[in-house]
Amino acid sequence: ARRRAAAVASGPAVTRDGLRVRILANAAGPAEVRVALAAGAEGVGLLRTELAFLDAAAWPDEAAHRRMLEPVLALLAGRTATVRVLDFGGDKTPPFLRDTTARGIALLLDHPGALAAQLQAIGTADGVRVLLPLVRDAADVEAVRAHTQAPLGAMIETAAAAARADEIAAVSDFLSIGTNDLTADVLGTDRFAPGTVATHDPRVLARIAAVAHAAQAHGRVLEVCGEAASDPRMIPLLVGLGVGELSVGAARVAATHAAVRALEGAAQLARTALAAKDAGGGAATR
Ligand code: PEP
Ligand code: MG
Repeated sequence: ARRRAAAVASGPAVTRDGLRVRILANAAGPAEVRVALAAGAEGVGLLRTELAFLDAAAWPDEAAHRRMLEPVLALLAGRTATVRVLDFGGDKTPPFLRDTTARGIALLLDHPGALAAQLQAIGTADGVRVLLPLVRDAADVEAVRAHTQAPLGAMIETAAAAARADEIAAVSDFLSIGTNDLTADVLGTDRFAPGTVATHDPRVLARIAAVAHAAQAHGRVLEVCGEAASDPRMIPLLVGLGVGELSVGAARVAATHAAVRALEGAAQLARTALAAKDAGGGAATR
């Protein structure tokens, strides 16, 4: 019966002590968006556009991007639609890129025509914002800024980017922490090996806290879009650190909404958790 009650979230997600958190969804296409909206998501916080092109024979052109985006953007009309530009590389490498080692935004910046085609297709409609995967530094964001008027977000997914969160926040409209890649990078683990996703490790928490601090210092919205965003152990800490948007799998929307509404004292909890970590001595550095 409890599960039933959480199946559809209603109203905005606000903690018991008044912190407003936007619950958004991770999606790859219209089916997930439909499920997420029906469950009470306010929009999409991560559209993984590359998943539609994993078997592409060449960089998708503007028309191909439009065909992919249209059904998703039609469902979202006016709501937040966070479109991540192609995050190829690593485990998401189509055959035509098999010999490249670059990933994420670095790979796209090596192929400016491919990036421009996607940005053109994404456009600048109300609610649409662009998310850049595996940002390395402020220059990555500035290079893309020259080609779109849409709000731009930087994904922080490596220890190196977290260390540069301040300069990246300064030139971004919002930040989004990709906790899946960030956790793997900080801990040196494989994100796909079972049982190794340990985002609650103090070394990872220290990086998340640093990013939260940078976002706050620059007045930027902070989203979390990795699996940690729907992890009941992580939600109190993330909200307590000032994370304003949790983007979660469509099937996790209602439970995440319920977890936020049940929260109280998250800010104090985050302070205590990070103080305990600091007292642990050296855990924050690797
Ligand atoms: C992440 O790395 O946490 C993330 C949200 O991006 P993806 O899982 O698509 O790499
Ligand atoms: Mg990632």
